[in-house]
Amino acid sequence: MSDFDYDLFVIGGGSGGVRAARVAASETGAKVALAEADRYGGTCVIRGCVPKKLMVFASEYNHVPDMARAYGWEMTAGDFNWQGFRRQLNAELDRLEGVYRSLLKNAGVETFDARASLRDAHTVTLSTGETVTAKHILVAAGGHPVRPEMDNAQLAIVSDDIFHLEELPKSILIIGGGYIACEFACILNGLGVEVTQYYRGAQILRGFDEEARGLIAESMREQGIDLHTGTNIVEMRRATKEDIARGDDAPSPAATMGASARQADGLAGDDASGDSGGPVWVKATNGRTRVFDTVMFATGRRPNTDDMGLAEIGVGLGRNGQIEVNEYSQTAVPSVYAIGDVTDRVNLTPVAIREGMAFVETVFKGNATPVDHSLIPSAVFTQPEFGTVGLTEEAAREQQEIEVYCTSFRPMQSAFAGKPDRVLMKLVVSKADRTVLGCHIVAPGAGEMIQLAGVAVKMGATKEDFDRTVAVHPTMSEEIVTMRNPMRTA
Ligand code: NDP
Repeated sequence: MSDFDYDLFVIGGGSGGVRAARVAASETGAKVALAEADRYGGTCVIRGCVPKKLMVFASEYNHVPDMARAYGWEMTAGDFNWQGFRRQLNAELDRLEGVYRSLLKNAGVETFDARASLRDAHTVTLSTGETVTAKHILVAAGGHPVRPEMDNAQLAIVSDDIFHLEELPKSILIIGGGYIACEFACILNGLGVEVTQYYRGAQILRGFDEEARGLIAESMREQGIDLHTGTNIVEMRRATKEDIARGDDAPSPAATMGASARQADGLAGDDASGDSGGPVWVKATNGRTRVFDTVMFATGRRPNTDDMGLAEIGVGLGRNGQIEVNEYSQTAVPSVYAIGDVTDRVNLTPVAIREGMAFVETVFKGNATPVDHSLIPSAVFTQPEFGTVGLTEEAAREQQEIEVYCTSFRPMQSAFAGKPDRVLMKLVVSKADRTVLGCHIVAPGAGEMIQLAGVAVKMGATKEDFDRTVAVHPTMSEEIVTMRNPMRTA
């Protein structure tokens, strides 16, 4: 008999926490409980990857009539019905949340719809007033979007709020140049919103391959996104009638009505959500002032570690509030582990799931398994998509002599329709041992392509292995095995 109520108590019902809880319970017979303060499924399912990808799909239909006409179809574009789409979206999220709840139930995991905090190394207190003990505690509490510290920042929404908008704004300013900023710029542009994006740096998507970043920025501008690099917001406030009357940037009366409807819906004044109760006046670093129906900060995320008693019991926290862990996801308190965004290592759903599985393997199966964070393929769902694995050309060049194989071309499908779209296929190769160190693809479907290229790169494939593979013709991705001569060496 254990001295504790549970063998494992998991805090957070997102992808990582749910996976760890149900595998520990179903595969090792551990007595497991899980607390979730919000909706089961967490960021990925409820306000991240899943609704975002469904919005990507919705936005891509914008281009269909144009393309179809070039292929002989008589087709006219209709209007996008945001309310209709949102109804479907919410029904799908409800369904998925139900799936997550039943996965836990079927695995025998006890659930608490409550906020949890730590009292000591083995004790959890719940917002319901209950106190429970566990041999091991796993913190998988995720993260949340943050606004920069500036006056009136609350007037702007964040990515969580997008899915709750009663109406799409006519115009939006997105601030930031990371994954979320670029993805939502493309999505909203595709849905017919006038999108302006301010990014403080010289080029969007910092940290990714420079050539790929350049092509994505160019494509975004070509689609009509008003992207300003080297630009940030310095001031914001609710727009006055005079502001709205003053310039070309005045929002439409319809959009203003939409904003009032959102205010009535309770978004305004809510601490967790942006106050989208009317147009916002914004001053940029270049001195220009403009009015937008909505402003969105996509300026990064922060781990959910406030008021959880973590530091008090000796868990180490980093500068961004992230829980510090070792290679086994163990904190400075031996019975407390942490996985996923709350540790701010690689903030991706499949990585959190891996970390959860490695935790169960280590702690409940007696097989010490460090988490492998090397060569993680990922995709940015811009339009076109960006799939990437391994080192960028710039990072590889710092480490060793390399050859760069690269091609950029107009893909058959859109070229036939007279579109200017271009794609990029790039391999960064070690000159010494011919290993493919990095693969970067900007193309429609690049997310799907990089999953498969990622297997080869993870296996340590050489450029010659790619060359030995016969092309699948006619495809865009065949170029990845047909690039014969390096574009440059460095
Ligand atoms: P990122 O860290 O990727 O980007 C934040 C952006 O905001 C950067 O461009 C940053 O600029 C800018 N920024 C930060 N602070 C300020 C400020 N004070 N003023 C102006 N700009 C500022 O965060 P995201 O929120 O986009 O995404 C968070 C994480 O979520 C990602 O890192 C990723 O791990 C994950 N994610 C993954 C997705 C996917 O796999 N497709 C999709 C969405 C999110 P600078 O570059 O100068 O620092």
